[in-house]
Amino acid sequence: MTPKKKTKGTLIVLSGPSGVGKSTVIAELLSERKDIYFSVSYTTRGPRVGEADGVSYHFVSKEEFEGMIARDELLEYAKYVDNYYGTSMKVIREKLDAGVDVLLEIEVQGAATVKRKCPDAVCIFVIPPTFEELSRRLHGRATDDEQVIQGRLERAKAEYRQIPLYDYLVINDSVQSATREILSILCAEGCRVDQRLPMIRNQIEGVTAL
Ligand code: 5GP
Repeated sequence: MTPKKKTKGTLIVLSGPSGVGKSTVIAELLSERKDIYFSVSYTTRGPRVGEADGVSYHFVSKEEFEGMIARDELLEYAKYVDNYYGTSMKVIREKLDAGVDVLLEIEVQGAATVKRKCPDAVCIFVIPPTFEELSRRLHGRATDDEQVIQGRLERAKAEYRQIPLYDYLVINDSVQSATREILSILCAEGCRVDQRLPMIRNQIEGVTAL
């Protein structure tokens, strides 16, 4: 008898400093695990070149965002570099209730809120092999001036201090190895007794009472 589909999806939170390569790792992860739903956040920052509304973010005005806060529609939100970023509760809840795993790519304040509200969330922090490597990667982008880069490095240091809030630390040595580590984490999380027990509930009488 094949085990039944799990009844509740896993909420996966991924954070990491700017420049660590989260987007590339996420793209690789989603190509391996097409069943994961990637949550599109709401933000008040303007779209960058190549970003489409509803794909990269839902781009909204400050008034619209504050309306969502007032109506308690957000699972979490944070202010990051003078802009709001947040996750809508409705879609996330629907997906999790349907047994779908949901991935959030959010910064540390939002991750702390999610962990408080949803203690079962699997929180993963991604770092580069060394801090010097992060500096090298940020300089290598050649899109920002030195002041912006220094600001990002300072922020990264503050974010590193929040790592103990997370469940897993993934080192992005290469996209492949980081993706492999995340896939392993998700595989192990899916094998947890509390995840699997409901699937085998009807196989042996009394098994859920253990
Ligand atoms: P960016 O402007 O570079 O796209 O994102 C800036 C930061 O905001 C990143 O660290 C990203 O992870 C974070 N972020 C994106 N969406 C959300 C969200 O919905 N909530 C929170 N708390 N952070 C977010």
